[in-house]
Amino acid sequence: MRTPRGFSYAGVHCGIKASRKDLALVYSEAPCSAAGCFTVNAARAAPVRDAAARVPASDIRGIVANSGSANALVGPAGDEDARAVRVAVARALDVAPEAILSASTGVIGVRLPVDKLVAAAPSLAAARGGAIELAAQAIHTTDTRVKLARRTMRIGGTDAVFAAFAKGSGMIAPELATVLAFVTTDAAVAPEALQSALSRAMRTSFEMITVDGEMSTNDSVFALANGLAGNPRIEEGTPEHEALAQTLESICIDLAREVAEDGDGATKLIEVRVAGAPETLMARELARAVAGSNLVKAAVFGADPNWGRVLMSVGARIGSRRWAIDPTRATVHVQGVCVYDGAGPAGVDVVALRAKMREPQVTIEIKFVEGESHAIAWGCDLSYDYVKINADYTSLTHASADGTVARDDRLTNYSPGFKRALLVEALSYISRFSNKRAVVKYGGAAMVKDSLKASFANDINLLRSAGLLPVVVHGGGPEITHTLDKLGLGKTDVVDGVHVTGREDVKAMEMVLTGKINTELVSMLNQSSAHAIGLSGKDAGLLRARKLVGEGGRDLGMVGEVAHVNQELLEVLLDRKYVPVVSPVGLGEDGEGYNVNADIVAAEIAIAVRAEKLIYLTDVAGILDNGELISELSALELTAKIEDGTVRGGMAVKARSALRAIQGGVASVHILDGRIAHSVITELFTDRGVGTLVRA
Ligand code: ADP
Ligand code: MG
Repeated sequence: MRTPRGFSYAGVHCGIKASRKDLALVYSEAPCSAAGCFTVNAARAAPVRDAAARVPASDIRGIVANSGSANALVGPAGDEDARAVRVAVARALDVAPEAILSASTGVIGVRLPVDKLVAAAPSLAAARGGAIELAAQAIHTTDTRVKLARRTMRIGGTDAVFAAFAKGSGMIAPELATVLAFVTTDAAVAPEALQSALSRAMRTSFEMITVDGEMSTNDSVFALANGLAGNPRIEEGTPEHEALAQTLESICIDLAREVAEDGDGATKLIEVRVAGAPETLMARELARAVAGSNLVKAAVFGADPNWGRVLMSVGARIGSRRWAIDPTRATVHVQGVCVYDGAGPAGVDVVALRAKMREPQVTIEIKFVEGESHAIAWGCDLSYDYVKINADYTSLTHASADGTVARDDRLTNYSPGFKRALLVEALSYISRFSNKRAVVKYGGAAMVKDSLKASFANDINLLRSAGLLPVVVHGGGPEITHTLDKLGLGKTDVVDGVHVTGREDVKAMEMVLTGKINTELVSMLNQSSAHAIGLSGKDAGLLRARKLVGEGGRDLGMVGEVAHVNQELLEVLLDRKYVPVVSPVGLGEDGEGYNVNADIVAAEIAIAVRAEKLIYLTDVAGILDNGELISELSALELTAKIEDGTVRGGMAVKARSALRAIQGGVASVHILDGRIAHSVITELFTDRGVGTLVRA
């Protein structure tokens, strides 16, 4: 992302949070005009009180922001803590302490671990660079994604560059919504002109979003302009000022929408458009009322076209305000479909509308007949996860003596009702699975990230103790590519989607697959219970391979297909409750090792051991169609998705293997997101699957 001249950014981990980044810096090599807009919450955090008293300002050089602790409601010590951080950062940057502003976000009522922030100041300063994303990550709390916006603006013969980032996910309500946002630009702007343009931008952006109607103690939106673009300084009341205000507005709208979209537990963005109102303020308030209605939000979560709630919510607001405007004469559209036509319900195809409401954005339009004013508000749906995230926020987020904030999601912290439901549901599955076999293909991120590796090992051991008999087949993951690269191998062609494999390649692959990945996985599984047994496809001729021939007889080298599985060996092991862990190397008739795709091996083994289930762990949510997860489909439907090109590449290999397994008698195949810890357990022991289920 192109960034404005003279600005640099940093994001580091200083130790407020257990391991994620928690300290961000925005720095300008030239003095900036600074503007800010802040929460109107009367219980404002210390850094907010400081910054609000000092902007608009000139000669600002940077802003330091931390996440993990809000530095709010901790008494007068909060002001000293915030000041100590600013002083340390100023010293590290070699600028005056007054040249630094600060912001905080996180848990309320926990003091900042100032020593850690002060100690991290030099490394924060040293980490400065062009990567604004790193700073954006360092201000996250429950955010799930980075929020960035960028613009350029032609002004006085040069292009001024704007780059901005924000955070926000819960405790978000209009006036201002809970956000930290930082807009940086190299335009030259007078401080007051920057302030008025920023304040104006708030009205149609951050003041028009709501996630939960809760106003935070820490909202701060800053703009810094350092003038290095060299344009004549923008003053108030000029056409350039108007253009600046519009640019800031569109940046803030982008960021605000992203904040709404990433609301706690949100699965969808809601856009509410009100038109035909007698006044703008009225239009804004009505749009926000609908976007903030819990019943509307819950209906959107369930893709339920219950439009009555939309008119209920505007009607309530109009009535309590005693406005002279008639909601019964309005028209209402949901996803472009007219649901109420100004006189009564418009007949709608509920099934079709429901399908449209499953889109990631749901737009609701209300058009009144009394005037010309309009407004747009954004919100998100209300999911089970909102309560989950926020019910646990402080009980599961504990601050230790040194100020470190970490999450504790042990089951002990949950309500008795939740635990009861979970146990009843899980236990009913356990009896169903006893002595059944499941083949799990282990691949993707689950093979790379330590925490995911550990949760995978844990899951396999749990499945075993629940009476299920698992067989693990692993892939090669990124290790294979690294090793081949290092050895100068693997530079071969791809024919029909298959990597042509040379004799040297297959040796190196065996070294990694059998020698490294397999032994590591086995050791990990055997840390708590010693039942995993590592097997190469060569062991006892477990996998007999036949040389695979490409289309039109093309030579693919040492790529094999499965000719035979030594079922007897697996039976012996499964009978004695061992967990076979298979490295996908096949033994050819020529005595050579063959590279056999792990997805295919998993399917063949599942057929051979008459497995109940075949599970693929991968790096996507499951099978996607147009970005949307297909949670269940039949073999026939899957065949069609392969043929029409919806399922391609690596997923097509899995899909074909799934079809083969089903044809061979496996009852169901699951494709799961290996990036989510414990997804195997969630799939098998709860009612709602988490990935894609392919059934016969
Ligand atoms: P693994 O390493 O787990 O074997 P692959 O990369 O081989 O995973 O296969 C999964 C990939 O398939 C996805 O990351 C995606 O790029 C691709 N793919 C192609 N079509 C689809 C689809 N319809 N749904 C999901 N993923 C798909
Ligand atoms: Mg693959």
